[in-house]
Amino acid sequence: MADRSKIEWTRSPDGSAGATWNPIRARNKATGKIGWHCAHASPGCVNCYAEAINKRLGTGLPFKPGHAKDIAVYLDEATLIQPLRWKRPRLIFPGSMTDLFADFVTDAMLDKIMTVAALTPRHTYQFLTKRSERMRDYMALDPLHRIHTAAAFAPEAWRWAHNPAAAVTPYNLFSRVSWPLSNVWCGASVEDQPRADERLPHLERTIAMVRWVSYEPALGPVNFSRWLPGLDGIVGGGESGREARMTPRAWLRSARDQCAAAGIPYFHKQNGEWIDADEWHDRLRNLGYQISFNGVAFDPVTPLNFEDAALLAGVAGARRPFEHFSDGSTMIRVGKKAAGRLLDGVEHNALPTA
Ligand code: SF4
Repeated sequence: MADRSKIEWTRSPDGSAGATWNPIRARNKATGKIGWHCAHASPGCVNCYAEAINKRLGTGLPFKPGHAKDIAVYLDEATLIQPLRWKRPRLIFPGSMTDLFADFVTDAMLDKIMTVAALTPRHTYQFLTKRSERMRDYMALDPLHRIHTAAAFAPEAWRWAHNPAAAVTPYNLFSRVSWPLSNVWCGASVEDQPRADERLPHLERTIAMVRWVSYEPALGPVNFSRWLPGLDGIVGGGESGREARMTPRAWLRSARDQCAAAGIPYFHKQNGEWIDADEWHDRLRNLGYQISFNGVAFDPVTPLNFEDAALLAGVAGARRPFEHFSDGSTMIRVGKKAAGRLLDGVEHNALPTA
């Protein structure tokens, strides 16, 4: 779908960009418009970016349960074989515009997607789902025999796969790869403790070389300790976008510290749109020079009240520039870019390895 993805965790260690890959497409039966399809699964879906794109540029329909009857889901054969053409090894996020383990994606479709993964061991496929139970069940099916015998994908794909330079072809697939595929990561997306309690037991029992968790958007604190021994890494982050909800840094720090204690990688994707008032205040103080607003000079060593800090953050026009909590803390909306990717001044870029 989109080579050169901007998603931080698809970036290779050498800094080269990864890719998103969306062979599952949807057609609006009424209008004929082509786009994508999904259905909200939990609170993490409320501000789904894929849904916003689909409403604007795709089928025009929301990702609300009940729209399945309005669309026809299909596997786009031209998109399916894209990774065969990508020579440079990439981290690839398959199904970034949907959930590949949702019930509208058939086992036969997944078999073809896995076939492409099997034929391209140079790439790493970062599967991620909120339907962790289906992922567990599918990965237990060991589809390699079906991949081999079903002539699973289009003639064009076979031509690509017959490239003599290819390390793995349909003919030597059985001798070169085994299940689970070493270049497939299986990930569960969890946004809070109830979702972790529901999905991580499935992930724990998923047959995969790499099991990972996306804790983004983090919408509540999560104690991961029960599952950490079976995990290969966690990616954490706050929500971004117009309606982004707040993620207090304490939740992300906790995820980072739990990973550190267990000796597993933690990747900090982003802080989101909001930062703690204390953090913003510290940043202003660290600027080390006088800041003025409406002609009033602020002494950087004098504590700013949150309204002033919010205004200085350039969010005076925002609908919700700041928010108070009952525990006395305050968060300020500064935008994704200003909120950045540093957690306590450090960039955390550790990703799982097979
Ligand atoms: S599962 Fe993913 S793609 Fe589907 S609605 Fe939720 S956030 Fe969007």
